[in-house]
Amino acid sequence: MRKDPYQAARQVRLLILDVDGVLTDGGLYYDQDGRIAKRFNVQDGLVIKLAQYAGLELAAISGLSSPAVEVRLLELGITDYFAGYRHKLPLLQKLSEAKNIPFAQMAYLGDDWVDAQAMSSVGLPMAVANAQPEIKKLALWTTAAPGGHGAARQAIRFILQAQGRLEELWTKWTREHV
Ligand SMILES: [Mg+2]
Repeated sequence: MRKDPYQAARQVRLLILDVDGVLTDGGLYYDQDGRIAKRFNVQDGLVIKLAQYAGLELAAISGLSSPAVEVRLLELGITDYFAGYRHKLPLLQKLSEAKNIPFAQMAYLGDDWVDAQAMSSVGLPMAVANAQPEIKKLALWTTAAPGGHGAARQAIRFILQAQGRLEELWTKWTREHV
């Protein structure tokens, strides 16, 4: 029987985010010197901060190395950022050991074939709306937004909501920021 995504989300302590096509729209902007710029979503940024405040651990894994990604993730306070990993599963194993978090308590948000192995291993595999069809099949939950357009926002909202934290964060936010 297929697992209930809400049930799986309640267990999640660590969310691993793919970068290209998940935190970005997958676009690679080349300048005349061959340097690559990328586009991130500011709404993803805010929820990442909220998630960290709520105690949800976050990590990001990228198949490509990019100074632009490093700068953005540093801004967001994601210190567990691993670049240049085409094989993501061995890294997940290391993270699991280092943080003492079993795979069942991990979520992974991906979009393409390179994410398949990791997604097959975690308790809550999630896909962005424009993920490849094979990846969507592996996902227990799929965002309505495509990568780079608020998909991470929706995925983190889903986890926080399942854990009963979203309402409390909103109440606290309105008290402090409105
Ligand atoms: Mg990707």
